Amino acid sequence: MTFQTQSGIRYLTFDSFPGDVIHAIFTRQGGLSPDPWASLNFGGTVGDETSRVRENRFRAFRALKRDPQSMFDVWQVHSADVVIATAPHGAVPVELKADGMITDTPEVTLFMRFADCTPILLYDPLRPAVGIVHAGWLGTVRKAAAATVQAMQAAYGSSPADLLAAIGPAIGPDHYEVGPQVVEQVRCAFGSDSDLLLQQKNGPRPHFDLWAANRLVLEQAGVKNIEVAGLCTACNPQDWYSHREQKGKTGRFGALIALGGKLSTI
Ligand SMILES: [Zn+2]
Repeated sequence: MTFQTQSGIRYLTFDSFPGDVIHAIFTRQGGLSPDPWASLNFGGTVGDETSRVRENRFRAFRALKRDPQSMFDVWQVHSADVVIATAPHGAVPVELKADGMITDTPEVTLFMRFADCTPILLYDPLRPAVGIVHAGWLGTVRKAAAATVQAMQAAYGSSPADLLAAIGPAIGPDHYEVGPQVVEQVRCAFGSDSDLLLQQKNGPRPHFDLWAANRLVLEQAGVKNIEVAGLCTACNPQDWYSHREQKGKTGRFGALIALGGKLSTI
């Protein structure tokens, strides 16, 4: 992975992804929102002003040379539902609820928001096609990443072995203590592998490893090429919003992915 800065916007890219796929995990730097959302907040339901959130998004898209009107996003609801994006919806809100999105249309920029949950990017260089996933603990045990891989197989004939996958910054196992309800669902979803995913540290409650769990979900779906950022949102508050570390009073960082080509410039 590499941190880059463009027009004051600092973002992360994955070295395993070639240059013809446009992608970024945006840090919280380079926007205009004040505390507690400072500064590049994309969350529209966290108390920040809509006009600032929109301007932040415009800045971020322009930094990546993507037309803001090319956006496709959804209401993220911790499901394993996947939407196929066939055209941008731009400024017109969609009422779709999902936690995976895929497209093979270069005009579409897939966009999602995060603050501790796991961002996962997918790229099939052969079709070509892209996907993006939002997976907190619930989306992880529901295997949203596998559902998105399977949606790319069904829609585009993608072979999981051809896919490049990247797991972005999320709350790390050092900070992610979980209660009995989560432990039970992790054990139910991952069986004997759950011993590796639930680590006992100081204190009575185990810590859940979202990075390793989503890597396992992808591997079990047949994905072989997986880059993991290994960055903890709670450990790095200068770069990332952390819902848990900032006790709910915070913003949302963004992630986007799009197929490149002539249509990518504005
Ligand atoms: Zn941490």
